[in-house]
Amino acid sequence: MGTNNIKKPAVFLDRDGTLIFNRNYLKFPSMVKLYSCVAESINKLHTTGFKVIVVTNQSGIRRGLLTENELYKVNEKFLSILKSKNAKVDGLYYCPHIESDRCFCRKPKIGMVLQAANDFNIDLSKSYTVGDNIKDCLLGFNMGGKSILVLTGHGKKYQNNLINAKITTFIICKNFKQAVNFIIKDTKN
Ligand SMILES: [Zn+2]
Repeated sequence: MGTNNIKKPAVFLDRDGTLIFNRNYLKFPSMVKLYSCVAESINKLHTTGFKVIVVTNQSGIRRGLLTENELYKVNEKFLSILKSKNAKVDGLYYCPHIESDRCFCRKPKIGMVLQAANDFNIDLSKSYTVGDNIKDCLLGFNMGGKSILVLTGHGKKYQNNLINAKITTFIICKNFKQAVNFIIKDTKN
């Protein structure tokens, strides 16, 4: 009973190309570099009442290009940079699989989102995804929330793909900072 039972909205964030600069199968902590205003923007989301969850496809693990331990160290570095700027995420989930594994967690499937919804009591219908990939846009659609495509990372390339495929159920923002500003405005409407 009480306020703990009230479901909260969340923003599900892609990692590579959205929060940190894109590298192919990023495996060295020293290569982790955040886009500008990432920490401040995450804090804004928290202040507005959102849970902030990172969901990332990491098929490099299944492909043998990085180990789970290497991924762990990269994520630790990412979190420590946030911490140095007084920010944190509530959860971080990854899918190590490739398409043919037919798992339930690889975006745009909603396995990671459902897990987080269960772990953090999240209302998916009031939640958002932010990412640079068509898979992130479809993830938001599949979970019944709203999707924002950022034009960092591979975003510009996928913007054209989405338009060509007549997929229009997404919002375009220049970068993560703008996406957060959009979400906060959208919430007040
Ligand atoms: Zn998976």
